[in-house]
Amino acid sequence: MKTALLADPAMPSEFDLIQQFFTRPTPSAVLGVGDDAALLLVSAGKLLAVSSDMLVAGRHFLPDADPYLLGHKTLAVNLSDLAAMGATPRWATLALALPAVDETWLSAFSRGFFDLADRFGVELIGGDTTAGPLNLCVTIFGETDVRPLRRDAAQPGDDIWVSGDLGGAALGLAHLQGETVLNDNDAAACLARLHRPEPRVVLGLALAALPRIAAIDVSDGLLADLGHILERSAVGAEIAMASLPAHPALQPMLPESLPDSDLARRCLLAGGDDYELCFTAPAQDAPAVHAAAMTAGVAVSRVGRITLSPELRVLDQKGVQLPIKERGFDHFA
Ligand code: ADP
Ligand code: MG
Repeated sequence: MKTALLADPAMPSEFDLIQQFFTRPTPSAVLGVGDDAALLLVSAGKLLAVSSDMLVAGRHFLPDADPYLLGHKTLAVNLSDLAAMGATPRWATLALALPAVDETWLSAFSRGFFDLADRFGVELIGGDTTAGPLNLCVTIFGETDVRPLRRDAAQPGDDIWVSGDLGGAALGLAHLQGETVLNDNDAAACLARLHRPEPRVVLGLALAALPRIAAIDVSDGLLADLGHILERSAVGAEIAMASLPAHPALQPMLPESLPDSDLARRCLLAGGDDYELCFTAPAQDAPAVHAAAMTAGVAVSRVGRITLSPELRVLDQKGVQLPIKERGFDHFA
């Protein structure tokens, strides 16, 4: 503690809060919450995979967002990064800035966090708790084999794949913001995609067993995130618009091959927050990719091909290049 979260002696101290809401047994850490640092022993022959993701009120979520779902999403977005590395999640730290001590909020938030942590065997081994504008930052630690999934492994001729479906989270956000009006069923489905992403950890692990996969998680939109693979691998890509796995609520908005709705097209190509995996694999490994997807219980769709020429082109059903202005989300653009 550098500065007390609260000076009021009637209120629970920062240490009480940590003890009550964020201290759980950590059997797989040498030392967990409570000392100046946690101590971890990585399995022999494994690499430590480390990633941080921060959620900021007013930017990534509304300040009145459901705290249980926020606890889930704070961890889910980090698990998604490990999924994209093909890493096994092990530990996490949680740095929180809280505007006030609201025990009801903290209780729901920590339940959302730990419910997901328990599903993936993640132990919370430390963090920081301070007063300030609501801000949630997780650092996650996982283990990989020596050859994890990386962004720089794509080669010309590889197939491009996407797990699950795309655009649902962005369509849910558009609904919340009044840009479109969804029926109750579609709204519920899309808002679930937005608020309760399912990290594709098992798929990432299954893909890591294949010989040469490049992967990224789709957090900022397909074109932007695939763009990172292309850049790191120094290749290009052709995407077949009609092969993209649109979220069911988007499908009626995408007549035939050429979307006539700007919103639907934006959600599909540039919608953030889906947390699916986009990955490439040599064409001959398609059966192995399908087998990995079966293992993980996730659908996968082949959406295009890596090319030697470095641009990213989206093609309609006749193979004609679509004019694309969509780009993914960029905080500073
Ligand atoms: P320091 O003053 O050394 O930064 P803190 O008072 O911030 O220590 O934290 C005390 C202990 O509680 C440390 O082990 C820290 O990792 C842990 N901790 C603090 N905040 C959280 C949190 N939100 N979740 C889990 N552990 C936390
Ligand atoms: Mg601290």
